[in-house]
Amino acid sequence: MIFESVIGLEVHAQLKTNTKIFCSCSTTFGASPNTHTCPVCLGMPGVLPVLNKKVVEYTLRMAVATHCQITPESRFARKNYFYPDLPKGYQISQYELPLAENGFIDIEINGNKKRIGITRIHMEEDAGKLSHNPAWSYSMIDFNRTGVPLIEIVSEPDMRSAEEAVAYLKQLRSLVRYLGICDGNMEEGSFRCDANVSIMPKGSQTLGTRTELKNINSFKNIEKALLFEINRQKETIHDSARIILETRLWDPEKNRTLSMRGKEEAHDYRYFPDPDLLPLVVDNQWINAIKAALPELPDEKKERFVREYSLSPYDAGILTSTRELADYFENCLKIFPRSKPVSNWITGALLGLLNAEGKPVSESPVSAQNLAALLKLIDEGTISGKIAKTVFEEMARSGKSPGEIVEEKGLVQVADFSVIEAVVSSVLDRCPNEVKAYKQGKSKLLGFFVGRVMQETGGKANPKIVNQVLKEKLES
Ligand code: ADP
Ligand code: MG
Ligand code: ZN
Repeated sequence: MIFESVIGLEVHAQLKTNTKIFCSCSTTFGASPNTHTCPVCLGMPGVLPVLNKKVVEYTLRMAVATHCQITPESRFARKNYFYPDLPKGYQISQYELPLAENGFIDIEINGNKKRIGITRIHMEEDAGKLSHNPAWSYSMIDFNRTGVPLIEIVSEPDMRSAEEAVAYLKQLRSLVRYLGICDGNMEEGSFRCDANVSIMPKGSQTLGTRTELKNINSFKNIEKALLFEINRQKETIHDSARIILETRLWDPEKNRTLSMRGKEEAHDYRYFPDPDLLPLVVDNQWINAIKAALPELPDEKKERFVREYSLSPYDAGILTSTRELADYFENCLKIFPRSKPVSNWITGALLGLLNAEGKPVSESPVSAQNLAALLKLIDEGTISGKIAKTVFEEMARSGKSPGEIVEEKGLVQVADFSVIEAVVSSVLDRCPNEVKAYKQGKSKLLGFFVGRVMQETGGKANPKIVNQVLKEKLES
């Protein structure tokens, strides 16, 4: 039987607010343990939570960007469970009435658009961070993260492959970054994902039993975990066994998923509306203000780049993958307004450099101004395309402007006929055998001569003139 996989994702994104969701403690990462705490986020008796308006605003931005319906009067609920990282004994979340529902985003797979439904987006608070060490007879807890705002974005089971799941996640991450509401860092845990996966006979309308995969902290691992799990489920069915509804943990060392808990052990969270918090009322005026202030989003920007700059959708997709990279591209164009070479240099040399150094474009050693200046030097014929590569490497090392480097290292292109003629003559004199062969019809040797001349001029000779002079001399 041919099976089809079905995937739905639950993503937790940490919001970049300055303060926590229900108190004024700082959310700054990396402070000494338990220094960003107060009676509210420590769950002391007799205190009251106060909702951070910025959290609602950020969630609304995401809701609007994902075409969700906004719930006019949503509610906070208590999700009750006992765990040492949860000082109150319950997590404040949203349950029956989340802030946003029924949205979608579009992903692209091999040039084809596919729409993925967003079931809901709700706000909740993060828990503390436990540290365990086999050498200790105790565990440590840091409550700095307790009460840091999160949004949970739940998708419909609309994805049909690991590839689609990764594309969806990347699109979602790009969106939260464009909106400036989350830094989207999977490795550091500010963007986390649980993956639900099942299989069913191809074409079936009935979904199979799903398992939920946890502990996945990179795009690579999402893909690996899903592929492993889809295969495990196929083998299970092939062996005439049944898939059980359970939570499984991804083990990145062993590259496999392991059963963590079954449905019977699943928590009963005894959700109920939090009596300490009023219903949250969002009016149209607020929603409209947020809509009006929304930045240009990745999809729109990509389409505009294709249209306005005649780029391929592929290149436009790369250039708009982050807002910073798109700005870099457009800043280059302000100085050197030719989109094709600018795009080629950014997607080639620049991204190669940034990937190698593991740096975001905001920390690029080569500024947009300097890259554009380099392209100008090529365009004006001051340097050759080949020398430009050397200049670029030097720019990356020193951060200097291309003009300075070209001057310092004497890299200006040689376009002087008499200088090139002298080098050509000297090269031909030293290669009598090759000259003879060329004259007897081995015209391919022209490339050999060009190479020699370029070598002698340190790559600085204007290749057009070199070709012209060589032909004149060889054919006379
Ligand atoms: P829970 O609270 O048990 O995690 P939710 O309803 O919050 O349940 O989340 C369910 C997630 O699982 C959603 O993203 C949904 O799309 C996905 N899902 C539901 N049924 C299936 C299925 N049969 N196969 C794959 N994913 C599924
Ligand atoms: Mg779940
Ligand atoms: Zn606090």
